[in-house]
Amino acid sequence: MKTLLIHGGAGRIREPSHQALQALRDACKAGLSRDNALDMVVEAVAAMEDSGQFNAGQGSSLNLLGEREMDAGVMTSTGLLGAVAAVRYPRNPVRLARIVAEATDHVLLAGPGADRLAEGLGLPQIPPPSRGIVERYRRLLEEYRRGEYPLYRGNLETARDAGLMDTVGAVAWDGEALAAATSTGGVWLKLPGRVGDTPIPGAGFLATPRLAGSSTGLGEAIIRAMPLQRLDQLLASGLDLHEALKILGRIIEDAVGPGTMGLIAVTSRGEAGIYYNTEGIYTASCTSTSIEASLHMGGGIIMLQGG
Ligand code: ASP
Repeated sequence: MKTLLIHGGAGRIREPSHQALQALRDACKAGLSRDNALDMVVEAVAAMEDSGQFNAGQGSSLNLLGEREMDAGVMTSTGLLGAVAAVRYPRNPVRLARIVAEATDHVLLAGPGADRLAEGLGLPQIPPPSRGIVERYRRLLEEYRRGEYPLYRGNLETARDAGLMDTVGAVAWDGEALAAATSTGGVWLKLPGRVGDTPIPGAGFLATPRLAGSSTGLGEAIIRAMPLQRLDQLLASGLDLHEALKILGRIIEDAVGPGTMGLIAVTSRGEAGIYYNTEGIYTASCTSTSIEASLHMGGGIIMLQGG
């Protein structure tokens, strides 16, 4: 039995968007059309990148100068690991991360070098941002300017106030292997060159023989807390996923406070769960018999299988 769990970001999401829920369902179908865990997560994430509904791929946020700089990572329990950071060229950063994992000696490629690889390999180029994205950027920039922040500060506060954290991710178990993939445009108004948690294994994504996880939220907090690395250690100590998520939640809140992040995880024991300490998180649980896309509200732990 295949297990696929995906998310469309955690943050201050007040009411469900029907388009976002539909995009999650479509991503489930794209993932479920494949049989191995790596293909499942890459196809599900690529569908969310293309949907324009989330902060990844076509829907990516813009940095302080109004440019797109995207991060993505992919990993399997069998040892494949690849990520890209601050890329501007590819339509699907997750596919470029997979190429880094499968076709290079490296783990993480950043900036123009990664873009050159994408272009050289003939990967499709991302179309310019939609008018909606550019308008949102202008509005945020005005807010940011009104904030009169000291030089080089205040970007994260502005993005966080606007509740904009809708990175995408997918985790899967195919009965033999686990895989995780995460992709983002990063936080709005970030300084050019800023890289968040998404391409950092143990922070934004992780797959080990025990678990596959994908995080979303404030990258600066997630990198400090390394939630997936810690979750893997908790599972290694013999805890089940539910117990491990409870302890992890306390560790995260002590380390970086509430309102900072959410994550999804599946284990090789067939458990699937969600943790989030933000107002909301979009997720979808996808099996061959049912696809359930939801906006969860209020924070906490949700066990979908096991626990
Ligand atoms: N985690 C992403 C970042 O900080 C943002 C998000 O989750 O939307 O780059």
